[in-house]
Amino acid sequence: HPAFDVHAVRRDFPVLQERVNGRPLAWLDNAATTHKPQSVIDRIAYFYQHENSNIHRAAHELAARATDAYEGARERVRRFINAPDVNEVIFVRGTTEAINLVAKSWGWQHIGEGDEIIVSNLEHHANIVPWQQLAAAKGAKLRVIPVDDSGQVLLDEYQKLLNSRTKLVSVTQVSNALGTVVPVKQIVELAHRAGARALVDGAQSISHMRVDVQDIGADFFVFSGHKVFGPTGIGVVWGKREVLEDMPPWQGGGNMIADVTFEKTVFQPIPNKFEAGTGNIADAVGLGAAIDYVNRLGIENIARYEHDLLVYGMRALGDVRGLRLIGTAADKASVMSFTLADYTTAEVGQALNEEGIAVRTGHHCAQPILRRMGVEATVRPSLAFYNTFEEIDRLVAVVQRLSDQRRSR
Ligand code: PMP
Repeated sequence: HPAFDVHAVRRDFPVLQERVNGRPLAWLDNAATTHKPQSVIDRIAYFYQHENSNIHRAAHELAARATDAYEGARERVRRFINAPDVNEVIFVRGTTEAINLVAKSWGWQHIGEGDEIIVSNLEHHANIVPWQQLAAAKGAKLRVIPVDDSGQVLLDEYQKLLNSRTKLVSVTQVSNALGTVVPVKQIVELAHRAGARALVDGAQSISHMRVDVQDIGADFFVFSGHKVFGPTGIGVVWGKREVLEDMPPWQGGGNMIADVTFEKTVFQPIPNKFEAGTGNIADAVGLGAAIDYVNRLGIENIARYEHDLLVYGMRALGDVRGLRLIGTAADKASVMSFTLADYTTAEVGQALNEEGIAVRTGHHCAQPILRRMGVEATVRPSLAFYNTFEEIDRLVAVVQRLSDQRRSR
């Protein structure tokens, strides 16, 4: 590939040098989590070696260093998603916690009896269950945008769901089970026209495409650090300033207060209002380093290279007899879900693991969309920029061998 030196890139990721069952590791499980470049590992070690302190409230030098590092990471996130204001970036544990924060704070405040929350059929359980819980508590209703047989949302059906009772539309930008790229900008615009707020789940989009929250126009955008080459345990809620300022804190404690008496507490302004207690300081700093790394490669270069990998992989898998691709929307990123006739997905996953190839099998925390596609489980290879055409060839070779052995089973 001319524009992208994948072999140089791979040297930045120590774990990619691992061998599994005597074979070089082929990591095709990027939708579950991504690996960390040495620069991220080093940045976290540097934090503990030279900067470690609690933040925001001590007089000493290390507190200043740790605060600078943490707030520097917040600014990196702001620039990465093109948020207008750094105080709109709230650190949380990940996408799951991000959506729960919005449900518990904004949702608890704004959703009432008879109100409607719209999600799509594609959602990860993290973007279903919190709304279901909220709806059950408030007497509200969850409504679902259907998809076509390729796994793309049906916009005309969506428009029919919107009405004056719609209070929130919460959709993923990329499906973790099928890879469908959802037209979130259009969905958000229609939500706003109906007077609803909109949340975009960026867990699967953030590492594969340019994200511009001002262009998308949603009220909330959320993602996990570990899916974008950063550490686990750190993630982001971005929200529009006026929306966040109007929301109550969802957890109380230290760091989020301006003044406390037994009668009353005055809260800090955003973002601290939503960051009660000691946060995951080191991993926020690590996320900042991951963003620096992605910026050095260039997200457009990444997207172009991954597109070519995906087209190559989908075509090669599609040629295997007995293999059914699950999710064939025209606009896709990273994910190549499939089933293979006469094999369970676990058997395929096992055969791949024996050759050092890591994929996820099962329902991928997105049971409703798999059932919509007529299956309970898929084999799910998912790509990142450090994958190679050779790794896809290895994947296809194993699946082809299983396919060839079908009749002799
Ligand atoms: N939404 C989507 C689309 C996802 O792919 C995931 C992770 N598989 C999540 C939400 C949940 O992310 P986390 O487990 O990092 O909280």
